[in-house]
Amino acid sequence: MLFHLAANTPRFEVFRLLNAELLHFIEQSVDTNAFERVLFTQSAIGDACWGNAPTREKFNLLFSALQAAGNNTKQQLFEVMRDNQDLEAFFGAPKRNLFDFMNEPCREALKSLCTYLYCATKDLQPVINASGGLDITDHFNDYRAQSINGNICKACGMKELAPFRAGIPDGDQWRADYDHQLCKSKYPIFAVHPDNLVPLCDVCNQDAKKAKDLFRHKNGTERLAFYPFNEDAQALVEIEIDNLRDPEPTIKVTWRTRGVMLLDKLNTWDEIYEIRSRVEGRFRSLEAIIEDEIRPRNSAHLVRRISDEARPHTIATLKRKEWAFWYQKLFFALEQIDTTPFIAKWDFVQKQGESGGEFILDTAFR
Ligand SMILES: [Zn+2]
Repeated sequence: MLFHLAANTPRFEVFRLLNAELLHFIEQSVDTNAFERVLFTQSAIGDACWGNAPTREKFNLLFSALQAAGNNTKQQLFEVMRDNQDLEAFFGAPKRNLFDFMNEPCREALKSLCTYLYCATKDLQPVINASGGLDITDHFNDYRAQSINGNICKACGMKELAPFRAGIPDGDQWRADYDHQLCKSKYPIFAVHPDNLVPLCDVCNQDAKKAKDLFRHKNGTERLAFYPFNEDAQALVEIEIDNLRDPEPTIKVTWRTRGVMLLDKLNTWDEIYEIRSRVEGRFRSLEAIIEDEIRPRNSAHLVRRISDEARPHTIATLKRKEWAFWYQKLFFALEQIDTTPFIAKWDFVQKQGESGGEFILDTAFR
């Protein structure tokens, strides 16, 4: 994450209860030999899961697969789920092969149930009623309130979670998808764990991350990742500008640390969300940025404006303005280096443009 989640981030009650229900079910399965109502909690959420035929069927399929695999598998699955509920601890010491003890049918049945709980069961009205009446859109609106996390994606800082539309009731606002930090396919028992689900922008969630494993690179090497609730990259990144004399200076994102573990987490974050390539892609033309963001009237104005834009933003701005973090870093970097040759070149280009009549500028303000 570029920014960690706010300390007052609300946990989604539907996820909390479904997660607890799943754990209860797996625990009860250890000493039960028939698929019955007694496997579920004596609560409204237990009623809702048992009372919904497709949800019940998914539980039944897992129960049958576990029953066929035997008591050892049941007991181990229960212990794995019970002993890994603390996600902060899990991020600190990830277990990458949690389900190696299970056979293929059990794994498939577990995945299928957990995916269903997330995709369908969470939206059932009896489940929402059992969780205090708040559905996922209500939770999203609470999550992105300006006093809590705001509307900017925590992973990248580049994009709104979802556009806010005036005159539309909260319940009908668009919402962002929730990302499973630990993806459903590799870590099914966290599919409805309330600490595993984070609303992200569509680029982070759908284009960049997909089902990438936070703790294992696709080349097989093990790695660590920032825990979204209390770790982030914001103080560890900076922008570097090279070759300012070239027609196209290069703008690069670099890491401001030598700590081995922090570098590992930064590289994971970068690989998962494609941070560097997105920022460097956006910043591929310094001239275009100066023209679009600064709109300088002359070289003195350009220097002054760079220094204005280099001032750090308030937290409030970072929570509501796309790209604000990154542009400030860029202008801060520009302010730190000797921009004289760049400004002289810029001046020259402007004058050439004017004499050639190709560069359209509002000269009335000069
Ligand atoms: Zn994002």
